[in-house]
Amino acid sequence: MLRIQQYVKAQSLEEAYTLLTKNRNNQILGGMCWLKMEDRLIPCAIDLGDLGLDKIEESEDVFTIGAMTTLRTLETHASLNAWCDHIIRDSVKDIVGVQLRNLATLGGSLYSRFGFSDVLTAFLCLDCDVVLYHGGVIPLAKFVQMPYMRDIITHVIVHKNKERKAFACVRKSATDLSLLNISASTYEKGYVICVGARPYKAVRFEIEKLAVEEVCQVVSEQVELDDNMRASKEYRRKLVGALCRRVLEQLEGKVCK
Ligand SMILES: Cc1cc2nc3c(=O)[nH]c(=O)nc-3n(C[C@H](O)[C@H](O)[C@H](O)COP(=O)(O)OP(=O)(O)OC[C@H]3O[C@@H](n4cnc5c(N)ncnc54)[C@H](O)[C@@H]3O)c2cc1C
Repeated sequence: MLRIQQYVKAQSLEEAYTLLTKNRNNQILGGMCWLKMEDRLIPCAIDLGDLGLDKIEESEDVFTIGAMTTLRTLETHASLNAWCDHIIRDSVKDIVGVQLRNLATLGGSLYSRFGFSDVLTAFLCLDCDVVLYHGGVIPLAKFVQMPYMRDIITHVIVHKNKERKAFACVRKSATDLSLLNISASTYEKGYVICVGARPYKAVRFEIEKLAVEEVCQVVSEQVELDDNMRASKEYRRKLVGALCRRVLEQLEGKVCK
């Protein structure tokens, strides 16, 4: 059971950061969907709800997404989804149900870097940065590799390039975790392909332009996969080939979503 000794609704990021770094067990609260399932004692739970971090702002070059933005807001944001070929909507729409998606946040999802995360896989193929209160602006591709640190994600900045994007995943049943997920985008030299739920956290490949079959083969050979209760390593290897072909064909406009 989760136990919280003190709850603070922070009035500034500085206050939140000071509280966070006071005790290694203090925690920032996102939507609490994951935290509430844990069996632990939190000396001080820090709520960012008063800090206006639940908005998506659009400028000519970027979308600036507050860390407290819910998955449901991401799913239903028309201009963000139109720009990203709807991969954000596609990556979150099967996560449990609307009630959970109305709570779970982008900050909590990216901070956690869950192996099964569809959200992480989708954002990883975009040109985007994580803004940490103390650590500054870090490309998501680098943040994914970093150890967990005592810091606060304040925003995610998505750069509006003109590349095409696609996302696909396989679930055994509608709201279960993905057995495997893949996102892809084009870039000037070729393709970015990200594979998650391997079952480890998503990895990103940049592959120079080759024929679709060759790209699928390279990714299938290079990606590290494993068994877990949802799927075997061998089955995942077959899924990598099939999903990789599916997202590449979407990028090339050969299939409709
Ligand atoms: C039953 C269930 C099923 C799920 N299924 C899926 C799925 O199929 N696909 C998928 O992609 N995801 C899935 N998720 C995960 C979900 O999408 C969220 O990623 C998860 O709940 C964490 O988000 P949260 O806002 O609830 O974070 P919380 O639970 O509040 O926090 C999680 C961690 O992140 C830290 N944190 C939160 N916000 C910040 C911040 N701004 N800065 C620094 N640290 C922060 C917290 O301190 C905590 O350590 C599932 C979750 C649940 C509970």
